[in-house]
Amino acid sequence: ALLTVEHVKNDVEILVEEGKETILRVAEHVSFTDVNSIARYLARVAGSAGLYGSNLLEHTEVDHWLEFSATKLSTASQFLSAVQELNHCLSLRTYLVGNSLSLADLCVWAVLKDNNIWQEQLQQNKAPVHAKRWYGFLEVQRAFQSVGAKWTSGTPKVKMATEKKADVGKFVELPGAEMGKVIVRFPPEASGYLHIGHAKAALLNQHYQVNFKGKLIMRFDDTNPEKEKEDFEKVILEDVAMLHIKPDQFTYTSDHFETIMKYAEKLIQEGKAYVDDTPAEQMKAEREQRVESKHRNNCVNKNLQMWEEMKKGTEYGQTCCLRAKIDMSSNNGCMRDPTLYRCKNQPHPRTGSTYKVYPTYDFACPIVDSIEGVTHALRTTEYHDRDEQFYWIIEALGIRKPYIWEYSRLNLNNTVLSKRKLTWFVNEGLVDGWDDPRFPTVRGVLRRGMTVEGLKQFIAAQVGIFFFSDSLNLTW
Ligand code: ATP
Ligand code: MG
Repeated sequence: ALLTVEHVKNDVEILVEEGKETILRVAEHVSFTDVNSIARYLARVAGSAGLYGSNLLEHTEVDHWLEFSATKLSTASQFLSAVQELNHCLSLRTYLVGNSLSLADLCVWAVLKDNNIWQEQLQQNKAPVHAKRWYGFLEVQRAFQSVGAKWTSGTPKVKMATEKKADVGKFVELPGAEMGKVIVRFPPEASGYLHIGHAKAALLNQHYQVNFKGKLIMRFDDTNPEKEKEDFEKVILEDVAMLHIKPDQFTYTSDHFETIMKYAEKLIQEGKAYVDDTPAEQMKAEREQRVESKHRNNCVNKNLQMWEEMKKGTEYGQTCCLRAKIDMSSNNGCMRDPTLYRCKNQPHPRTGSTYKVYPTYDFACPIVDSIEGVTHALRTTEYHDRDEQFYWIIEALGIRKPYIWEYSRLNLNNTVLSKRKLTWFVNEGLVDGWDDPRFPTVRGVLRRGMTVEGLKQFIAAQVGIFFFSDSLNLTW
């Protein structure tokens, strides 16, 4: 009742007094004692406040929720299933009825606020997500806060994520960055739509592009012909444009296949790489046990012979891979002779069947970063173990060394940020498509009603925090 008063007090003259009962006195012999009746009366009198919805259908929906709050939601034995029902109805909504606050929100919220089970669920982080989001969203609004402050029922105060102070735009400066000389790159693999984790990567790169008046390269990482799908390239370019990101240059890792191959051969010639036909399972076991391959000390000629087999894609060649000769006893698993090239017989969307061998991402990335002039290679922290390998490749080839600058991966609870998993939902027909509003894809988020500006601010806020801490978990 107090919440309703708070929302109609500009339209209706009303005097509130503290007492033992909840009564609304309308005239000398007319008073209401039922909370919902009080709320209904006030909402009808203060029609311009819009608390009763804006059409007949919405009036009826509001009535439904009022009844729901007074019956199911107020009955202990039905409470949990009522909350589930509420959660379901809120899954794609901000308010219970229509697009604005109504009595439905006020009455359902108030019953929850007074319910101990709900408060416990909130505290233990067990409350259903949509209901929790909606509850927290209302809780921080001024009217709810001011009623809450006067409220004396003593329900425990629950800390909501929304109470956190916004921490926007605290980007960390780039070490060794010179105005006008910074070159960064965003290298997606064209195997799905961009999600908001990718948006973080792309926006972060753009930030440095803009602030250092530098250059942003948009590079399709197409080292793996199996995964690459041309349709997705178009989609990704559109997604990038939607985020108002303007790359200065567009490239493909495959533009450099010839150079990468020359470098691989240089490593073979110099005894820094060897061809190995050890079966995958055994190679994995040998890596774990730090055992050297029987081919590790083959002579250069033997390696070149086996490499030819690989390049031709012969049956034997297909059982081989090219490995860097680094250190099988290293504590860093990435240094135990990683794979540089593997044989694949599938045609590549851009180079067709010119090649039967393709570089791994780990081998291609440092070379392409170096030749494209990238000064700062932004990578997520889970690549950290591979930095040593990245620098080994650069040094072994004697090429220019980019600076690796780490940032943390965006992780969200209650959703998945992985193209592989999102693809599964799409293929199973469980969603509308890649732009389903429940999806954390750039398009899904925008379709759900988020603005590009809002998304940017969200990412900026994460970056400020994320540079310093890895463990912040956000909820979708
Ligand atoms: P996914 O598992 O979704 O396929 P990915 O890393 O394999 O992710 P890529 O297309 O290779 O996808 O990623 C392009 C860029 O986006 C890379 O630089 C990658 O590190 C970055 N990126 C991907 N996911 C995230 C995330 N959740 N947070 C921050 N950056 C991310
Ligand atoms: Mg990847």
